[in-house]
Amino acid sequence: MQTFTFTALPARIVFGPGRIAELADEVRRLHLQRVLVLSTPNQRALAETMAQQLGTLAVGVHAEAVMHVPDSVAAAAVERARSLAADGIVAIGGGSTIGLGKAIALETALPVIAVPTTYAGSEMTPIWGITRGGLKTTGRDARVLPKTVIYDAELTLRLPTAISATSGLNAIAHCVEGLYSQDANPMSSLMAAEGIRALAQALPVIKDRPQDAEARSLALYGAWLSGTVLGMVGMALHHKICHTLGGSFNLPHAEVHTVMIPQVTAFNSSAAPQAMARIAAALGCNNAASGLYDLVARLQAPHSLRALGMRETDLDSAADLATRNPYYNPRAVTRDNVRELLQSAFEGKRPT
Ligand code: NAD
Repeated sequence: MQTFTFTALPARIVFGPGRIAELADEVRRLHLQRVLVLSTPNQRALAETMAQQLGTLAVGVHAEAVMHVPDSVAAAAVERARSLAADGIVAIGGGSTIGLGKAIALETALPVIAVPTTYAGSEMTPIWGITRGGLKTTGRDARVLPKTVIYDAELTLRLPTAISATSGLNAIAHCVEGLYSQDANPMSSLMAAEGIRALAQALPVIKDRPQDAEARSLALYGAWLSGTVLGMVGMALHHKICHTLGGSFNLPHAEVHTVMIPQVTAFNSSAAPQAMARIAAALGCNNAASGLYDLVARLQAPHSLRALGMRETDLDSAADLATRNPYYNPRAVTRDNVRELLQSAFEGKRPT
């Protein structure tokens, strides 16, 4: 039996279709009286409906969240929260909106209630990220961990199938790396394997029937597990590469995870055989890496960095950046083996 250290993160989870109706109760439960509701411009209508539902408990809607939390966007949101004397934040949306809520919490220590509408998993982590001058800085801080998370599948029924697929694969990537994490523990591994199982079962159904409420709930359940794993244990090479490609080459976050996860799984397969066996079992196939590749294909999601608009001439500098300050990884990382890995990802080769 391995030795391990287990720290549970405090969060209240309210899970089930229609449970967004309990938002006001959850606001009161935290003794909040003046919450600011956040969303992207895209989801403003939803945020406004929620603010109306909250009545006098809401002091405004700030529908300005954008991907990767640029520092100017974070500063404007902090200013808005202060000027309205908000005493709490309700962040409704994907990782970008929840990320903006975290940026406000980092500065003001205001409590956050998160209502995730994608599968990215940010709502379960104390990890914040802010982008300054094209460089994303991340850190861990207990203040940014949402106090309450409401998972309501009804809010996800209109999440486009393409984003459903890539954000679901982003969640699967947290679970995959959680299984070979340096500080994995029996609980994180149980959650990671179950998260992969739930998402791998739900995502193809969502692809075929986006309005299937049961599959949407199953995917949110997988997202909850994956976010919990991400919040609990350290990530490895896959996340390092995705941060590099997203941050320095401006490639879209969830799509990069989608392209990279089969390739990094193949890269690590011989160094983490137990994790690979659990991933394959959770996917219901014989090989973790090709099973993930086939899932990406089944979801008609992007397979190659080329398809995401990456230039082949940038692969050398991507390999340099991704191997600078490396994270722990089960297989030794060198500039050359990462360059080779990036080439396979560029071409979108099926791992053998
Ligand atoms: P996102 O939040 O950028 O959302 C993508 C798009 O989908 C947005 O336009 C949004 O308005 C729209 N959308 C979201 N939910 C919708 C719904 N139900 N119906 C219709 N449209 C909807 O994308 P994401 O993948 O959720 O988040 C990516 C960001 O989250 C990245 O910046 C990433 O770094 C961050 N992230 C952070 C953590 C963490 O722990 N800190 C974890 C995962 C991701």
